[in-house]
Amino acid sequence: MPQKLATVILLLCWFAVSMPAQVNYCLVIHGGAGTCTGMTDSMRAAYTRALNEVLQAGNNLLKNGGSALDAVEQAVCMLEDNPLFNAGKGSVLNAEGHVEMDAAIMSGTDLGCGAVASVHSVKNPVSLARKVMLQTRHVLLVGEGAEKFARECGMPTADSSYFTTPKQLEVFKKLKSRKGTVGAVALDRQGNLAAATSTGGLAGKMPGRVGDTPLIGAGTYANNSTCAISCTGTGELFIRNSVAFRVSALMEYKKLSLHDAVSQVVYSVLQPGDGGCIAVDKAGNYSMECNTQCMFRGVVNSEGVFMTAIDRTAMKTQ
Ligand code: ASP
Repeated sequence: MPQKLATVILLLCWFAVSMPAQVNYCLVIHGGAGTCTGMTDSMRAAYTRALNEVLQAGNNLLKNGGSALDAVEQAVCMLEDNPLFNAGKGSVLNAEGHVEMDAAIMSGTDLGCGAVASVHSVKNPVSLARKVMLQTRHVLLVGEGAEKFARECGMPTADSSYFTTPKQLEVFKKLKSRKGTVGAVALDRQGNLAAATSTGGLAGKMPGRVGDTPLIGAGTYANNSTCAISCTGTGELFIRNSVAFRVSALMEYKKLSLHDAVSQVVYSVLQPGDGGCIAVDKAGNYSMECNTQCMFRGVVNSEGVFMTAIDRTAMKTQ
């Protein structure tokens, strides 16, 4: 009898070690993609510090049972508040010297989504996007209509000097070819997925231009049955190729893994230099791929993974 018991215990132990660990939460973030030419070591350190802070806060939220939706909103708000990134404070200027910001958020649970485009005074466009999702029957509000809705909701606003600091202007002149945008995707302990993206768009864009970021299925998408995805790059190309939805569709219809779906889109559909994306699926697999020299990115999960990277080759995805 004791021998039988020992065999059972041994078998149980074997199952425990041979079963793949269940990732019960995961947060992946990005802070834009492009070239890193002209980036000093101290700038690299500043970006890395910023990404670490966002991951740390997201880890606390998800570890304590917070929702994927709250995690991606919090992550994107923190990146919007940081003038290093082209979103919220630190947004680039359009051809006429004004800030025009776009953002979107999506819940994979019910395909609920909200987005705003061409807003100029809202401190956290991603939070306004969430209000559009929760408090209106619409998906996308633009320009003055979105600004009016923000005021009705009592969202914090600021004038143009808040968004574009002189220091930031200098940084962006030096890093002209680096694309901006921030984003986050998450899986929570309840098994739900969410995605959020926010951007100042492309520097020198025509007034009124809207990129892929606030367009559901182009720069942002989440569906519990496939994945959550947030993109960064030349928006027009991401719109033409329905990049975010295409990743989800490759998983749904072609049964590709998250990694293969993201790789196919980033390396075969898009061209070198176009941009990249981050994604997470229901099992907690994550992907961070770009066809640019750099993409600011990072991941944290319940299995103790905590990594950030800037150069394309610096970190292999799971
Ligand atoms: N995708 C954004 C846009 O085209 C820009 C970026 O990601 O850098 O508006």
